[in-house]
Amino acid sequence: MVKAIVGANWGDEGKGKITDMLAETSDMVIRFQGGANAGHTIINNYGRFALHSLPSGVFYPLITNVIGNGVALNIPVFINELNSLLKQGVPKPHIVVSERAQVVMPYHILFDTYEEERLGSKSFGSTKSGIAPFYSDKFAKIGFQVCELYDDELLMCRLENVCTLKNTLLEHLYHKPLLNPRELFEEMVRQRELIRPYIGDAVEIVQSALGEGKQVLLEGQLGTLKDTDLGIYPFVTSSNTLAAYGCIGAGVPPHEITEVIAVTKAYSSAVGAGAFVTELFGDEAETLRRLGGDKGEYGATTGRPRRVGWFDAVATAYGCRIQGATEAILTAIDVLGYLDEIKVCVGYEIDGEVTTKFPVTPLLAKAKPVYEILPGWKTDIRGCKDYDSLPSQAKAYVDFVEEHIGVPIRIVSTGPKREDIAVRIK
Ligand code: GDP
Repeated sequence: MVKAIVGANWGDEGKGKITDMLAETSDMVIRFQGGANAGHTIINNYGRFALHSLPSGVFYPLITNVIGNGVALNIPVFINELNSLLKQGVPKPHIVVSERAQVVMPYHILFDTYEEERLGSKSFGSTKSGIAPFYSDKFAKIGFQVCELYDDELLMCRLENVCTLKNTLLEHLYHKPLLNPRELFEEMVRQRELIRPYIGDAVEIVQSALGEGKQVLLEGQLGTLKDTDLGIYPFVTSSNTLAAYGCIGAGVPPHEITEVIAVTKAYSSAVGAGAFVTELFGDEAETLRRLGGDKGEYGATTGRPRRVGWFDAVATAYGCRIQGATEAILTAIDVLGYLDEIKVCVGYEIDGEVTTKFPVTPLLAKAKPVYEILPGWKTDIRGCKDYDSLPSQAKAYVDFVEEHIGVPIRIVSTGPKREDIAVRIK
């Protein structure tokens, strides 16, 4: 049986915490898309971690953690992250990297950086982790599956071809130093030895686990609105962030995904460029940013301030529907405890008309939020584990959000720690 844990919004909804929590009763956790361009913050008895490339099941020694074929595998980041976990006392986790996963090459990171530089004020706000150049190359069929790194002849021959293409751009468009195929070859020979102990036939391992009735979690990165196809293109990531992509990026048969858990925060946050209808500015934004998350709303990968705003029910209803959510988890409700009144966006006004339909990007840019105002609870509820004992205004807020997103909210997260959970629907 497969449960997918995915983001309903722009990412940073708290999926890492939820995956870490649900992993306790699972046998396998799989990352199926994206790369080290986003971080999942996890706080448990070992400490505080920002996982960029490892699956969130790594804190449980009995779980098999899989890096699926859909992932952008940055080998040095993977190894550093693993080493830092071990240094902090986490027992050595069991990790399998799909032999079909493709590798983020050193030049992907360079090209990401150069392109953002070239775009200047029109840049996308990339984390410069090489993700867009990586996925472009994958689909242009000039990428490297990790299994291909072990064939010297193939590796050198493909690198020569890549360098011919890339060096044309480096010389004439970016005016940057050229790539040397021999140097790249040596670097990838070094990297292939680092990753060798973890490589396996992930498709077979996943399929066997399912055959044995094991409980598998798919761990999504970012959220619906960053999906290349159904998100706010072009202000999206370069992979599909939907639970459905788990079938491809992890080799899971579609009928096996029986639960899709959409994680959404009690307010909004986003990174990168693009329209953000409920965005707050000035002091209001600064306060929410400071009080949000576990240490304020600052990117787990870049440390840059996240854009913050009111809960957007239009975007979240769309986000849940497109994910095929069977339930939602509302996180970080504790953060709102300082507010007298809380706004929720229930419609968009576009060219004088109000709609609850999430529009395409050119129309989204014109959308103005239509708010309903709910009373705050002015109480510190961080760490509350008994749903019934929450203030009535907080429960009314959850009821209101549920009604507008159209998906049952089974669990409410009341703090960043693993155990800060209040179950609403048993
Ligand atoms: P992910 O990428 O979806 O895993 O999310 P991130 O880890 O990037 O961002 C979520 C932030 O919210 C992190 O700082 C978490 O520690 C924090 N967080 C998660 N759940 C809660 C919660 O219920 N309350 C509070 N205050 N913070 C939370």
